[in-house]
Amino acid sequence: MENQVKTAQRLPHWMKMKRAEGPEYSRIKNLVTTHNLNTICKSGNCPNIGECWNRGTATFMILGNICTRHCRFCAVPAGKPLAVDPEEPCRLAEAIKIMGIRHCVITSVDRDDLEDLGASAWASTVRLIKETNPGVTMEVLIPDFQGRKELIQNIIAEMPEIISHNLETVERLTGKMRSRARYETSLDVLRYIASSGTTTKSGIMLGLGETNEEVLQTMDDMIEAGVQVMTLGQYLQPTASHMSVMEYIAPDTFEKYKEAGIKKGFKIVESSPLVRSSYFSEKHVTVASLRNTETLNT
Ligand code: SF4
Repeated sequence: MENQVKTAQRLPHWMKMKRAEGPEYSRIKNLVTTHNLNTICKSGNCPNIGECWNRGTATFMILGNICTRHCRFCAVPAGKPLAVDPEEPCRLAEAIKIMGIRHCVITSVDRDDLEDLGASAWASTVRLIKETNPGVTMEVLIPDFQGRKELIQNIIAEMPEIISHNLETVERLTGKMRSRARYETSLDVLRYIASSGTTTKSGIMLGLGETNEEVLQTMDDMIEAGVQVMTLGQYLQPTASHMSVMEYIAPDTFEKYKEAGIKKGFKIVESSPLVRSSYFSEKHVTVASLRNTETLNT
């Protein structure tokens, strides 16, 4: 398998992944390469790449492929990023058109080296994709922008259908797992997005040593912040130098968390071992039209 997760640990049987091959997979791979684009599917060693690319979807990563932060769970290389490529929004908008996708997901590396932390590049990317692809819907999975709301507002103003920001883990483990990030700052970011009326989404990885109570408390914190869509998935160790997996959480536990989340008031909960924040993201656009009404069955 081309994108096999590089972990020395034996995976339980429920972590079975689709093979990264097939005609549609090759088409997406060629488009990504010829347009000189980055995807978190590839850079993040996502276990779903075979499935998603064969469905004609991918999550594009803008602002380069080198991150200024050193999170202990993330496979994206950290270091000194290259200069921002002004042509990237144009190439990405064009690739989305050629791919013919109706819903796209965009994320980025952290760019703490830039004065505006990458906010203007984010805004022009969202704008250009919408102009080039009328009717396309969009989820943007944004960094914390160091909690600077005036920067986040640039992205909200472009009106993507969903804005996500991941808490990644429970409060106690945040300092250990995430670099230069604070749990409270991320909650503030989510609160601000939700207050704009945009569909707000967040997620955490399980299997890092968190307790059941901590997972439930994180759900409460998300609900208080206004999060409507929550994702829970199993953490996988990208390389031996990353944080080890403490536990493989069984599928029925994920199912229980899903039930708990729906009871707490989330409109959608995606909870299973292979869920990643962008997995089947197109389903979550419907929350925008159901805001403040009934819960969706997913
Ligand atoms: S779940 Fe998201 S990151 Fe993973 S392959 Fe699918 S689109 Fe890419």
